Amino acid sequence: MIPAAFEYERPSSLDEALALLADGGDDARPLAGGHSLLPLMRLRLARPTLLVDIGGLNDLRYVRDEGDQIAIGALCTHHALSHAPELSGGCGLIAEVAGQIGDPQVRHRGTIGGSVAHADPASDLPAALLALDAEVVAQGPGGSRSIAAADFFVGPLMSALEPSEILTEVRVAKREGCASGYQKFQRRAQDWAIVGVAAVVESDGGSISNAAIGLTNMSGTPLRATAVEEALAGAADEGAIAEAAKKVSEAGTPFADANASAEFRLHLAEVLIRRVIADAMS
Ligand SMILES: Cc1cc2nc3c(=O)[nH]c(=O)nc-3n(C[C@H](O)[C@H](O)[C@H](O)COP(=O)(O)OP(=O)(O)OC[C@H]3O[C@@H](n4cnc5c(N)ncnc54)[C@H](O)[C@@H]3O)c2cc1C
Repeated sequence: MIPAAFEYERPSSLDEALALLADGGDDARPLAGGHSLLPLMRLRLARPTLLVDIGGLNDLRYVRDEGDQIAIGALCTHHALSHAPELSGGCGLIAEVAGQIGDPQVRHRGTIGGSVAHADPASDLPAALLALDAEVVAQGPGGSRSIAAADFFVGPLMSALEPSEILTEVRVAKREGCASGYQKFQRRAQDWAIVGVAAVVESDGGSISNAAIGLTNMSGTPLRATAVEEALAGAADEGAIAEAAKKVSEAGTPFADANASAEFRLHLAEVLIRRVIADAMS
């Protein structure tokens, strides 16, 4: 279908973009890679009256080592993230997840800011941000604020961003000595995840001392599997990891859709947790 009529502006600075959004009100939307917004507009599930194309704001394309944190500009593409040397070690999770998104075309156009702001429960990066206790930086007419990933995703396609705000940066703590991984189940290569599991694991003398698990597409928002995380503490072998993985049912009843029943989603999550932890520990 052809989208409903809209105005188009391409600002050359963040301040100009913010002013355009403020003038446009609730019906104005930022446009980044366009790989989620344009499909919605073509289906007329989104009808913005003004698109503020932030794709020219090259100041928002960076991955910076800032001492104890890595700062990622909102316009970094998934491709750039998957090849960023700064995203190694414990923060390697973001690079690994970005490299598994869609196909090369999607990874060259789609941005971390768009992916996170879109808040699609099936998107891969949000679960990684949760597992990494990341922060999201939003700039609005009144200045900037930092939002914990745990508070950012408030519902399906709903985030804590105000319509007048632009997501400018994602920040993750630098971690040494931990392992991470992401695995998702999809019917065909390049499909969206039916379920995905992001994990960050610290170990001490062969047993797990700390684990963080983020779940993709189990609920209207990405989830932390806190009962699994607690049960993983001290786990040193496959049996203990398998027992801990069963606790994923305590994260709540997953939704059911044409791709999977709630029971199948729980099964997938349990299996993927086992696999991702085993891989991360190997
Ligand atoms: C064929 C296909 C396959 C895909 N497969 C996957 C997949 O496997 N996994 C996955 O996670 N994703 C997948 N995607 C989605 C892709 O990763 C998108 O790029 C991403 O979800 C949105 O990023 P974008 O830059 O394209 O955002 P856009 O489409 O431009 O914007 C998306 C939304 O975010 C808002 N927005 C964008 N940037 C900002 C900002 N900086 N501040 C505030 N609001 C902003 C827009 O207003 C809009 O509401 C796929 C997309 C396609 C088309």
